[in-house]
Amino acid sequence: MEEEEGPEFGKPDFVLLDQVTMEDFMDNLKLRFEKGRIYTYIGEVVVSVNPYRKLPLYGPEMIAKYQGRELYERPPHLYAVADAAHKAMKRRAKDTCIVISGESGAGKTEASKHIMQYIAAITNPSQRAEVERVKDVLLKSTCVLEAFGNAHTNRNHNSSRFGKYMDINFDFKGDPTGGHIHSYLLEKSRVLKQHSGERNFHSFYQSSDSDEANYQAVIQAMKVIGFSSDEMDCVHRILAAILHLGNIQFVETESGLEVAEERLVDHVARLTATPRDLVMRSLLSRTVASGGRELIEKDHSAPEARYARDACAKAIYERLFGWIVGRINEVMEARGRDPRRDGKDTVIGVLDIYGFEIFPDNSFEQFCINYCNEKLQQLFIQLILKQEQEEYQREGITWQNIEYFNNSAIVELVERPHRGVLAILDEACASVGTVTDRLFLQSLDTHHRHHPHYTSRQLCPTDKTMEFGRDFRIKHYAGDVTSAVEGILGKGVCSGTYSTDLTLRSMWPDGQQDITEVTKRPLTAGTLFKNSMVALVENLAAKEPYYVRCIKPNEEKSPGHLDEERCRHQVAYLGLLENVRVRRAGFASRQPYPRFLLRYKMTCEYTWPNHLLGSDKSAVGALLEQHGLKDDVAFGHNKLFIRSPRTLVTLEQSRARL
Ligand code: ATP
Ligand code: MG
Repeated sequence: MEEEEGPEFGKPDFVLLDQVTMEDFMDNLKLRFEKGRIYTYIGEVVVSVNPYRKLPLYGPEMIAKYQGRELYERPPHLYAVADAAHKAMKRRAKDTCIVISGESGAGKTEASKHIMQYIAAITNPSQRAEVERVKDVLLKSTCVLEAFGNAHTNRNHNSSRFGKYMDINFDFKGDPTGGHIHSYLLEKSRVLKQHSGERNFHSFYQSSDSDEANYQAVIQAMKVIGFSSDEMDCVHRILAAILHLGNIQFVETESGLEVAEERLVDHVARLTATPRDLVMRSLLSRTVASGGRELIEKDHSAPEARYARDACAKAIYERLFGWIVGRINEVMEARGRDPRRDGKDTVIGVLDIYGFEIFPDNSFEQFCINYCNEKLQQLFIQLILKQEQEEYQREGITWQNIEYFNNSAIVELVERPHRGVLAILDEACASVGTVTDRLFLQSLDTHHRHHPHYTSRQLCPTDKTMEFGRDFRIKHYAGDVTSAVEGILGKGVCSGTYSTDLTLRSMWPDGQQDITEVTKRPLTAGTLFKNSMVALVENLAAKEPYYVRCIKPNEEKSPGHLDEERCRHQVAYLGLLENVRVRRAGFASRQPYPRFLLRYKMTCEYTWPNHLLGSDKSAVGALLEQHGLKDDVAFGHNKLFIRSPRTLVTLEQSRARL
């Protein structure tokens, strides 16, 4: 590895460890972290540790060092992976994806930004205007989405509260011609309630001008993307309306339930351009189907009114966010064509999605987030194995499958048809009114009494960390997560279709849900999320994957400190040791023959300065024969496969002795 400065910086690839034990892994991680080497490979996977300080690792000079290089030519870096993905796309017209995972504050979003900046920097050498526009929108979209989808939390002052998958489309020249963003499960409950010490989404502070600098940046970014001033005005009115809505309180009077401060309703009506009495009615009553198709209006109790108010505030924010993503997508719609793929663009996908979350109190949102992580972990297992095996096949090498831990039991527990947690939730939601939270919990208990990854207080009466009749627990690989069933069944209908504001109305393209339609089992939030995860995983599986595994070094956001226990836990649940083992059980290293010769030809008289052996493959054979290393390698069609890291070490040593 050219610029890695020797053994004092540890091993640049965990595959080169003498033994694959947690101790050795941690020693290497720690040593490198302390020396400012935050990136380390496992083969083509990048392990990244958040430094919590500015390191001189980024920017144009660094980018130039990685551009067009092979992974092993430079010290481990995100740029190398971004370049590999871009090369695969450009040279082989392969769709690729970069999956970034890790827990909150581990550095996923920062990593995705470095990757995007790299791609933007190395493309469009001819400065085509349309490509420049697309790049501008791609980069600016991050700023806008962070304003509306990120918040200050206890774990991270800029925590993404949504999952993001971004496709970048490329033409046959390898230049970006468009993009598409999928957002997943915005944590909309934050609009109403935050854990102590946390804040609402950044947008709320920016719109009320307490965050002037960022506010200007967001406005600027929205302009570049192409939001009109009417649209931006509408966005601000919606944010203000949500704030007013949240302040509405209810009082019980002799004539029924009333709003305490009616002027707040006036504000909401004005800001959303909706008839005042409609706003009032949607807070104080709801329409229900009685008997057949007859619809009646039923007054809310005070708790029902509060629930309606909250559901409405959350729904409006969610619609706003979805609409912003949609507008960005319209602007980025791909225009490029790749003739090698029947006019289809080639794509690099970048996934920056929430990691495992375990709070003292977990809601339905955490349940979904953790399920998502199990799904992605499962994919990681499949792809890493699949990819290895396919390469061996392609190169004509024989290979035997190896054992790997499998989390499919947990995924099944959640998503299995008819009896998985989500199916039971669907069933319960369909019969809302008759099924209570408690009955839902009972049904879970009945179905999963013997499941190794499921428990509840009823099933385990001595475990006081769960509450009787309220909690269920899923034993994830990353830890036990206890969720309360409270309110999990609820749903609210809220609509902007009565607004006279066109922008606002366009946020409800599905129109007002007909109440008789609602009774026909709408898809629940859980099922919608499951469907989006299944689609995401299918999409990723069809691409050539690159992985960035982010590790959070400590809880204090402190630079330079690595809390070994916390890191060990993350290394374990990310399956990194297994990853190293799979990689080593196969071949620790693989290199195209010409590259291998370039590095080692000086260590052998037959190959220095040039060989006369017909092919590079036979020259490599002669070199290894002379070193007595031939038994440890396999000769693929184009690449040399080296089984043990020792061989590489031996070669490196003989090179260093010269
Ligand atoms: P979440 O899941 O909460 O969104 P995340 O994994 O996306 O978390 P980031 O927002 O990327 O975490 O990183 C958290 C903070 O850590 C950043 O705001 C920044 O201060 C710091 N950080 C992350 N990566 C780096 C880096 N490479 N160099 C310097 N600081 C970094
Ligand atoms: Mg993030």
